[in-house]
Amino acid sequence: MLPHGPMSGAAGHTRPAKTIKALTGIATGRKGVVLDDRLWDECVRFHGHACPGLAMGYRAAELGMEALGMPVGRAADEEVVCVAENDACGVDAVQCMLSCTVGKGNLVMRPSGKMAFSFFDRRTGEGVRVLLKPRERTGDREAAIRFFLTAPGEDVAEVKAPLYGAPEKARSFDSVRCDVCGEPCREDKIRLSKGERQCSDCYDPYDR
Ligand SMILES: [Zn+2]
Ligand SMILES: [Zn+2]
Repeated sequence: MLPHGPMSGAAGHTRPAKTIKALTGIATGRKGVVLDDRLWDECVRFHGHACPGLAMGYRAAELGMEALGMPVGRAADEEVVCVAENDACGVDAVQCMLSCTVGKGNLVMRPSGKMAFSFFDRRTGEGVRVLLKPRERTGDREAAIRFFLTAPGEDVAEVKAPLYGAPEKARSFDSVRCDVCGEPCREDKIRLSKGERQCSDCYDPYDR
């Protein structure tokens, strides 16, 4: 499905306007949009440090929500699903900002090694894919963070249609006991070996 709603600008922003303390005085390049320092601070606290990768995830989540016309924040909760195409620092910003988590089933890891995140609105089925644009590494981490947080959206990422549909909601499964270790295991994860039910820890894989 194609993205809809405002692709840039302040529309759709429900967060109170604040400026990033460390970035005060820097032109955002986006009219009327100032970044919420509290949210960035929260991401940094959650992740453990401020880094360009985290800023990439922050901006991807922001651009994705903007395109879907959804608010940034916990309010979106399970309504929003993220498919992360990498397992780098930026995923932590997505988790912190949108409350997308693996446990809840609204964060799906699809590690193809691309700096892309797809976001889906479960209520409408609409989705967008945010593909970060490559940027030359200069070694200046602070400049890179500033770029990803404040440069115009079109300089930071492409917002396009997702390559795949929204992942299905988390299912519940029955458990089956492994015949070797005796531990209960989700039934669809059990393998058969000479008629024995075996978990993946006990099963001797046959890969040639
Ligand atoms: Zn990091
Ligand atoms: Zn076992």
